[in-house]
Amino acid sequence: MTYTRRISSKGGITIPQRLRHEAGLMPGMVVDLTLTLSGPHSISRGITINQHMDTCPRCGSTEDVLVARGITACRKCLREMLEALDEMEGDNG
Ligand SMILES: [Zn+2]
Repeated sequence: MTYTRRISSKGGITIPQRLRHEAGLMPGMVVDLTLTLSGPHSISRGITINQHMDTCPRCGSTEDVLVARGITACRKCLREMLEALDEMEGDNG
């Protein structure tokens, strides 16, 4: 699907909600912008937007992000998830 948007005078652009959702992009998240050139004489120019590698997918923080066992999250979110797990296990046990 292709979306057409006009770039503002300040260089801003709004990424459609559906596209953000499908790309897993959320407010506050840090992204990498990369210039892309394709075609025999780089006729086609564009920009790709990718989630910054060390970004917590839960809160969008780029600080204190840990990666282990295929899980990426910031320390704060990991603590909150562990506390939530403790509460759930406490309720069941
Ligand atoms: Zn987080």
